[in-house]
Amino acid sequence: MKTHRIAVIPGDGIGPEVIREGIKVLDEVAVLDGGFGWEWEHFSWGCDDYNKTGRMMPSDGLEQLRGFDAIYFGAVGDKSVPDHVSVWELILPIRRQFQQYINLRPVKKLPGVQGPLSRSDDIDFVVIRENTEGEYANIGGGLNEATSEELVVQTNIFTRRGIERAARYAFKLAQTRRKRLMVATKSNAMNYSMPFWDRVIRQLALDYPDVQVEFAHVDALAAYFVLRPHTFDVVLASNLFGDILTDLGAAVVGGLGVAPSANINPERNFPSMFEPVHGSAPDIAGKGIANPIATIWTGVLMLESLGEQSAADKLMSAILSVMKSGTVLTPDLGGTDSTVDMGDAVRKAVRDIYDRSGV
Ligand code: ATP
Repeated sequence: MKTHRIAVIPGDGIGPEVIREGIKVLDEVAVLDGGFGWEWEHFSWGCDDYNKTGRMMPSDGLEQLRGFDAIYFGAVGDKSVPDHVSVWELILPIRRQFQQYINLRPVKKLPGVQGPLSRSDDIDFVVIRENTEGEYANIGGGLNEATSEELVVQTNIFTRRGIERAARYAFKLAQTRRKRLMVATKSNAMNYSMPFWDRVIRQLALDYPDVQVEFAHVDALAAYFVLRPHTFDVVLASNLFGDILTDLGAAVVGGLGVAPSANINPERNFPSMFEPVHGSAPDIAGKGIANPIATIWTGVLMLESLGEQSAADKLMSAILSVMKSGTVLTPDLGGTDSTVDMGDAVRKAVRDIYDRSGV
């Protein structure tokens, strides 16, 4: 029997609360499936550690993670640590050093979840965000700090290789779905980087003649996400544009409590990292009311990436059936149930699905 070795970084705030439910459900899935097992290793890295040691993760942290099959990540952030420290010293080094250049975020309306839009039931698309360069390249500097002559420069980096590999992933994904790719651009205003981005993607499109490609300026695209989200299949965006669009995507399908994501190294030279879109949510941390669905659904993405497609499909069906029944709802979805109640409900639904499938 295969054993998947997973590094677990629950992190801060609601991170540990939702990860606990995710592991509970994934453990159940493995037992019921019978074809694979899990080996979870926990790492207590995060803002608490930073306050004790001055580091978000140990200096050999990446070395410690390198040999795992995947990383299951909760959330990072606490008011005691500036955001640029907590993010730049924990999540971003993992994404970059492990070449997780695809950030994949499904935007799918779950049954029973009330979105803000009147027509939202058939929203089902995936955003592929370039995850290692672009506007978040970490190159820049400043001069004459705190004077009237102060200036700051922040540079965007776009490479042919970086664009091509993200775009290839998006084209291939579109081929497995409804064969439509929408590309976010801003070539009218960012007149060096974005025409290059567009040109590289147009050249690559010749290799995928079965995929229908369209380009839209990111500001217009933001409006389309609200006006006609059901028309999208796969959306490809640069790092910054993808960051903004995916939070908007999460909002149109019912909020951060139901928004999963994966940071993928497609070549599998390094572990991929699976994390809910939401942050540490300090306003509800410790109250036991965070919605664990995003984290459990993130577990579906992890199962798929580990080759456990049948288990992934069953877990997704369990999530859909719990949401559709509407009998267990956390406060973000208008109910009064707890994080643990929601985890229990999905675990029970998984059992029912395996029972029915006769496995
Ligand atoms: P970050 O900067 O780390 O993204 P943030 O405070 O900007 O953090 P979140 O932590 O994601 O953003 O929280 C934004 C809002 O969404 C908060 O009101 C929070 O309570 C709510 N929220 C986030 N995740 C969940 C969840 N899993 N269940 C319920 N509510 C959530």
